[in-house]
Amino acid sequence: MSQKDPYQHLREQIRAVCADFPDAYWRDLDARRAYPEEFVAALTRTGWLSALIPKEYGGLGLGLTEASVILEEVNRCGGNAGPAHAQMYVMGTILRHASEEQRQRWLPPIARGELRLQAFAITEPGAGSDTTRIMTFAERQGDVYVVNGRKIYISRVLQSDLMLLLARTSPRSDQAHRAEGMSIFVVDLRQAGDALRVRPLRMLMNNHVNELEFINLRVPAENLVGEEGKGFRAVIDSWNAERILIAAECVGDARWFVERASRYASEREVFDRKLGENQSIQFAIASAYAQTEAADLMRFKAAALFDAGQPCGPEANMAKLLASNASWAAANACLDTFGGNGFNAEYDVERKFRETRLYQVAPISNNLILGYLGNRVLGMPKSF
Ligand SMILES: Cc1cc2nc3c(=O)[nH]c(=O)nc-3n(C[C@H](O)[C@H](O)[C@H](O)COP(=O)(O)OP(=O)(O)OC[C@H]3O[C@@H](n4cnc5c(N)ncnc54)[C@H](O)[C@@H]3O)c2cc1C
Repeated sequence: MSQKDPYQHLREQIRAVCADFPDAYWRDLDARRAYPEEFVAALTRTGWLSALIPKEYGGLGLGLTEASVILEEVNRCGGNAGPAHAQMYVMGTILRHASEEQRQRWLPPIARGELRLQAFAITEPGAGSDTTRIMTFAERQGDVYVVNGRKIYISRVLQSDLMLLLARTSPRSDQAHRAEGMSIFVVDLRQAGDALRVRPLRMLMNNHVNELEFINLRVPAENLVGEEGKGFRAVIDSWNAERILIAAECVGDARWFVERASRYASEREVFDRKLGENQSIQFAIASAYAQTEAADLMRFKAAALFDAGQPCGPEANMAKLLASNASWAAANACLDTFGGNGFNAEYDVERKFRETRLYQVAPISNNLILGYLGNRVLGMPKSF
């Protein structure tokens, strides 16, 4: 990284936090499928997790660009920002659509670390990537909404106090446009009791996802965020931010893989020569490096547009696509370079390999990004 990097100081501060959480910490959590409580507490205590919360609510009031650097450095240091990143993702929805009363109610305790908003529930078994087909329904009854339905693959429900929920408030068939009739709520998980059934699922990597069932869950009407029926728009406002932040995490992963692979290839000798003397090894790492640097430019372009309040849909989507592909190329180059050791948990490569694989599919699959670019940017017929 050049001395002229404007984020060098920020990077060093994040690395200082991460230094207390070395490879062995993440390896142990991965083996136990445990949540990084101490790490998330440290990121909260140092204020970094509140980067996007404005200063008047007790946060750091930083831009998305700085937030992306924070998450990138966590992954670059060998950790996984995944268990903590949602509090940043959902800020777009809260800051743009919550009322002043709601912001005062939730943001200061989140910034102080007294409340965790680490869960957002959108995906459903029957809807998949076609979000407008969600069936979870919130019916208004006086001062409350009564929620019934199911969600799947919802992260960190058991590690959060609050959860953002997207539910239908009127049937899809009643709407002139399929994206209408959905609403966003903040669910207080501490008060849900038996009305919310949570079934943890074991995943490829150490990620705390759950299947949820809502059985007459009563959500106070004062927890509706934004206008009833306009929730899809509110969610979309956080999607660009999420994609840029994910891109940064992928850049961090890619740099970790490239650094580990180059070092190993320069040290290990087989057939009386360094591994890196072989072009098949060296070029795969160099190619992944080039892809990473290119993806990083698109990530910073998208983040700058976002911070300037400019439209950034194409750039945010391309950043996520390019960065996740770069991290996947770097992951494979690293695994190939390490040979058998790459499969051995003691080297951490296989753990990071499993972690970065997620970003081909979630939070949005790269296929859907290509479909968006083909249709919305290039004007070809809609493919889904
Ligand atoms: C570890 C993990 C954590 C998650 N956390 C959350 C969370 O916190 N909150 C939440 O709401 N969701 C969460 N998800 C869900 C995630 O957002 C979805 O898995 C993702 O959006 C893909 O949706 P799906 O699994 O329903 O796939 P499907 O929609 O069933 O698609 C299956 C495959 O088919 C492809 N496909 C579908 N349609 C098309 C098409 N038209 N053209 C080409 N290809 C297509 C997709 O690319 C995908 O690879 C999480 C998922 C995982 C794995």
